[in-house]
Amino acid sequence: MTDPRALHARLFTIDTHIDIPWPDRGDAFGPSERRVDLAKMRAGGLKAGCFAAYVPQGPRTEEGARAAFERAKAMLEAIGAMAGSRDGIRARTARSAEEIEASVQEGAIAVVPAVENGYAIGTELGRLDALARFGARYLTLTHNGHNALGDAAIPRPDLGDGATLHGGLSAFGRAAVGRLNDLGMLVDVSHTAKSTMMEAVALSRSPAVATHACVRALCPHPRNLDDEQLDALAEKGGVVQITAVPAFLRANAKESEVALADFADHIDYAVRRIGIEHVGISSDFDGGGGFRGWHDASESPNLTEELIRRGYDEAGVAALWGGNFLRALRAAERLAVAG
Ligand SMILES: [Zn+2]
Repeated sequence: MTDPRALHARLFTIDTHIDIPWPDRGDAFGPSERRVDLAKMRAGGLKAGCFAAYVPQGPRTEEGARAAFERAKAMLEAIGAMAGSRDGIRARTARSAEEIEASVQEGAIAVVPAVENGYAIGTELGRLDALARFGARYLTLTHNGHNALGDAAIPRPDLGDGATLHGGLSAFGRAAVGRLNDLGMLVDVSHTAKSTMMEAVALSRSPAVATHACVRALCPHPRNLDDEQLDALAEKGGVVQITAVPAFLRANAKESEVALADFADHIDYAVRRIGIEHVGISSDFDGGGGFRGWHDASESPNLTEELIRRGYDEAGVAALWGGNFLRALRAAERLAVAG
């Protein structure tokens, strides 16, 4: 009989989408209400986390883009500053799959920088290079608003230029995918419209990932991926990182109405549809994620327990908790073009 807690403790675990505190976020950002900090990660056996420099959609002007770019850089600096040693817990910024593994080896939590919303680069590809120099390992092409790269999953005219739909990935978006590939950064298709997503996945030379999304067949939320999207991701070697956002797991659900079983149902569905090597785990903690049983990072072992209860073996749980995402990251790095 596998002891889920002992198994969890020896796994490589990475939560692929976590938000960081930022002054303009009104919610849950007192240190005590925060769902993720290094102590909670350590308590929950989390070895690594992707921390997102999240940029809200703003006006599609050069001024707006410049402000978004500055904000993204400042957030990446704040993410970089998480490295160090506090209260006996060490953290290290990890800018590659290899550095993630090295951090884990030496007992430090791996802090993996990422950027959420291609709006952060406005219409300048060179800004992607700058974000990469900060160590950003993926770019989420859009957030909840259409931007210069492409259309988002949720038409919200109040959150961007809703009237200017590209019908998918724009010419600039195609160039951005190419540049992400060159830089060895992952293309994150969470938040994008299906048209944008399908084009980005087909175009990308490296496997695309959805760092935080769920399954449309189980919950008809516009942010969730339908079967065709799941199939397309898997065909290119990509990964869907099932996420803990209540409304993605169960229609219109609040945090108290969602439990571990709902999350595991989405995992099971994706595993049956596209194979266990294409499925992973994310929380979107401090950005809307969390439910009964996985309320914060310290409760992460509960998830392993539920997966074992459902019959997953150690290799399967290890693949879900990080092996698959690391494989995709390595593939992106292998395909990077220097210069
Ligand atoms: Zn998001």
